[in-house]
Amino acid sequence: MTPHSRPVRTVLVSSIIVTLVLPSAAWAKTPVATGTGGAVATISEPASKAALAILNQGGNAIDAAVAAAATLGVTDPFSCGIGGGGFMVIYLAKDKRVITIDHRETAPASFTPTVFQENGAPMTFETVRDSGMSVGVPGTVRGWHEALDRYGSMSFKQVLAPAIAVASNGFVVNDNFSHLVSKNKNKFGMFPATAALYLKNGDAVAAGSTLRNPDLAKAYRELSAGGVKAFYSGKMARAVVDAVNHPATAPGVRVRGGDMSLADLANYEARLRQPVHSTYRGYDIYGMPLPGSGGIAIAEALNILEGYDLKAMPRAQAEHLYLEASRLAFADRNAYLADPEYVDAPVAGLLSKDYAAQRRQRIDVAQARRPAAAGDPYAFQADQSVPLRPASAATRMLIEGAHTTHLTVSDKDGNIVAYTYTIEDWGGSGIVVPGYGFLLNNEMTDFDFSGPRPNVPEAGKRPRSSMSPTLAFRDGKPAFSIGSPGGATIITTVLQTIVNHVDLGMTMPDALNAPRMSERNGDATDVEPGFAGGAQAAALEKNGQRWGDAPEEIGAANALVFNPDGTVTAVSEARRHGAGSALVQKSAH
Ligand code: GLU
Repeated sequence: MTPHSRPVRTVLVSSIIVTLVLPSAAWAKTPVATGTGGAVATISEPASKAALAILNQGGNAIDAAVAAAATLGVTDPFSCGIGGGGFMVIYLAKDKRVITIDHRETAPASFTPTVFQENGAPMTFETVRDSGMSVGVPGTVRGWHEALDRYGSMSFKQVLAPAIAVASNGFVVNDNFSHLVSKNKNKFGMFPATAALYLKNGDAVAAGSTLRNPDLAKAYRELSAGGVKAFYSGKMARAVVDAVNHPATAPGVRVRGGDMSLADLANYEARLRQPVHSTYRGYDIYGMPLPGSGGIAIAEALNILEGYDLKAMPRAQAEHLYLEASRLAFADRNAYLADPEYVDAPVAGLLSKDYAAQRRQRIDVAQARRPAAAGDPYAFQADQSVPLRPASAATRMLIEGAHTTHLTVSDKDGNIVAYTYTIEDWGGSGIVVPGYGFLLNNEMTDFDFSGPRPNVPEAGKRPRSSMSPTLAFRDGKPAFSIGSPGGATIITTVLQTIVNHVDLGMTMPDALNAPRMSERNGDATDVEPGFAGGAQAAALEKNGQRWGDAPEEIGAANALVFNPDGTVTAVSEARRHGAGSALVQKSAH
């Protein structure tokens, strides 16, 4: 059956008419769409359709982004949801202004710098991850509230309606979903509420089956009726705190509880922050500021690369420089960046073009230089007095999955949203809140487990993030948006896509589909399966580049391109994460 010939019906949900596509055997794969009006790219067809439905009802990009995000919480629950947090970058066309909403998870008041240590040594990642200790106070609902209240035009009730319909009526599990459950079977099996939702007789729900999540529909209905308070106080808040502090486990399974209070939830605030602004070859680039490290690291790497004429070089030479610039930016990111309300990071120095020129001198155009040491950005900013100096460049390097999700939406009035949101690892902590159907994050594992380091855990602090929703402008007009999941590889995916598009002259679909290389100042560069051994790899090996473990895929990006003729092209992955869904309001074809 083609996507167009599937049965369609109209249902009444909370007095709003929602057009529903009934579950079919597979999601349509529409990674590129060009047209006019609004546009959306997400990694999930039901989520993109939810955004489009809201745009068609007259909602703006902010309304549609929340609708898509809520639907992703149903169809991509291992990446994101109301149990987590995120970063939203918004362009307000009327004001010609970019703002960001930081609704990152926050450490409970009980946290100390040694919370993840035992007998003087750091705990293992898994010990912390699969436990209540890893759960930060969720920020998603507060973030959605701020976005809708300040910049949206619709209510929670309106924008959550499509997600409620998908959660109640069900959606077809695709291969990617089933695969993710299989990969995390042990973790999910530890918690009965999680197993009940995603395992059948101990095995992953099968691809092709229809999955309903009535508990999540109920949670969304409570938000529709009660707004932000329904999450941060009352019954749902108590259920979250209970699940964190006393996770219900399968017989014989013991996990540690956390120490979160109702006051932690009641006190949670989203932050509206100024974006990081930088320039690159005539583009104005706006990224996420701290506690996001991506906006700064991407700007630093681009500032370094701006000193080379990448366009005029053979591809392998340009890519060698991309890897070296990324390594230097990561050395600084790892050494200096953390929650700005706790740590006075040398952001002005790191963003300065003069500092980039000094960092550029560390690059050998013919030979990889690893590892890179952090630089000294203090000399490049007005306030040189800040005492923070990096102890060492060493940092925990994890193999990063494509967990988390990124979506992007624009509307007919020119507003744009780039939104990355997450529960951290696949399935977060693994704990579904009983009765409410959503997974709790394990975002606190983004802290460094031992110090002294800027990113150690502290009460009320937000762990450093790599999420990098990014907007680019040219001559004051929107040019493109880009973002991706993938832990710390997010930064390299966004950076590489910009270089592919701006310097190597690739169209955005080609830029997204190109093989990804993620250099994060480790022993070797992570690449996707099949890359090592190929001609592109061989050309780079001549310059001493070498390849590390190959994750299944690096990132799952989504982008919008604003074309000179006034049309917009929505671009999603053509193959990663089971392929994405790009839709426009009025197709050009
Ligand atoms: N915890 C990650 C971060 O904020 C989320 C991104 C991801 O895991 O993909 O950097």
